[in-house]
Amino acid sequence: MDQQLRQPDDHAEIREEVGKLCARFPGEYWRKLDWDRAYPTEFVQALTEAGYLGALIPEEYGGAGLPLSAGAAILEEVHRSGGNAAACHAQMYIMGTILRHGSPEQKRKYLPKIATGELRLQAFGVTEPTSGTDTTALRTFAKKEGDKYVVNGQKIWTSRAEHSDLMLLLARTTPRDQAKKRTEGLSTFIVDMKAALGNGMTIRPIRTMMNHNTTEIFFDNMEVPAENLVGEEGSGFRYILDGMNAERLLISSESVGDAKWFIRKAVDYSKERVLFGRPIGQNQGVQFPIARAYAQMRAGEALLHQGLAKFESGQPCGEEANMSKMLCADAAWAAGEACIQTHGGFGFAEEYDVERKYREARLYQVAPISTNMILSYVGQHVLGMPRSY
Ligand SMILES: Cc1cc2nc3c(=O)[nH]c(=O)nc-3n(C[C@H](O)[C@H](O)[C@H](O)COP(=O)(O)OP(=O)(O)OC[C@H]3O[C@@H](n4cnc5c(N)ncnc54)[C@H](O)[C@@H]3O)c2cc1C
Repeated sequence: MDQQLRQPDDHAEIREEVGKLCARFPGEYWRKLDWDRAYPTEFVQALTEAGYLGALIPEEYGGAGLPLSAGAAILEEVHRSGGNAAACHAQMYIMGTILRHGSPEQKRKYLPKIATGELRLQAFGVTEPTSGTDTTALRTFAKKEGDKYVVNGQKIWTSRAEHSDLMLLLARTTPRDQAKKRTEGLSTFIVDMKAALGNGMTIRPIRTMMNHNTTEIFFDNMEVPAENLVGEEGSGFRYILDGMNAERLLISSESVGDAKWFIRKAVDYSKERVLFGRPIGQNQGVQFPIARAYAQMRAGEALLHQGLAKFESGQPCGEEANMSKMLCADAAWAAGEACIQTHGGFGFAEEYDVERKYREARLYQVAPISTNMILSYVGQHVLGMPRSY
């Protein structure tokens, strides 16, 4: 079974090394953090020092210059081992906006330090309480005043904000009713969090059902130097959109890792637990949900790998990125269901880690994009049905 849960064999060496690193952070480590809702500082430090969070940054900026599939292999292994990469996964991909759209000065200034971990760019300020999924309705406004922008508004669910040096912020620079299209007039900024904290920016943690270090952020006349605008003013929504496929593929790989963890745990337990004179795994009522979740996981994984291959060869991969995100998150949830059910009452005991992973895996049907929005994308953009919103 080990082999099946490790496939595919791509980036085998990286997977092996990440697996060894993760073995230093067992269930007890994650359980304690979960209880305290604390940040996995030592784990993130270890991943950073090993260079994994700078894996996708080109070598000329001090990163490993690896393809997206290597990033996916790293994140999958973290989740397959029982850990959770949500505390730092964004360090891997938010930088893509600077890499693709930043000025040469911004690339030189930020990317080498992000590659070493000296600067953490892992806060992504897009979602707002009133606009939610309807991103172009966001209200945070950045007003140009001389050589700076003055920002007012609010973000919600800005994860890792308390553990980031920089934030990529999406704000309106032209009021929605004055922009030619609703997708225009939005701009992206690099915010120096340390400088802004207490100077127009307030961070308030939100306690969630799993340990996610997420926050809400308030901007009250926060000043951002004009040189921190990324790309052209007004084109920020496009920049955010074109980073989404990479993000969705990487999140899919985490869900694949979660599914594999649940399946292994369920299979092992079903063989060990003996009732009525036989292992419970001999009963089809126990066996089939686990087998079904495995089949679902393999289908999602196959689509994920199609998406990664297309992404790496520069082909459009929106269909695969969206559908794999949905299928992999669903497979992780099905595997979590099968795992908790297989464990009976013990599935609810913290020391088995099943309930913790179960809570963690649920998020990916909502964030970074919820299932309905993926189905809308497929209905409209893949199948050509009328736009629904
Ligand atoms: C723990 C956590 C961490 C997060 N981290 C970040 C982060 O770091 N940065 C960031 O910017 N955001 C982050 N998010 C936000 C996340 O991306 C949003 O929660 C998600 O996009 C959904 O938005 P919403 O919560 O406002 O739900 P809403 O937009 O209010 O939607 C509520 C429900 O209605 C459904 N719905 C809405 N409109 C339609 C429609 N037209 N058709 C069908 N169904 C519809 C949605 O699918 C959803 O199920 C995070 C969220 C969570 C919970």
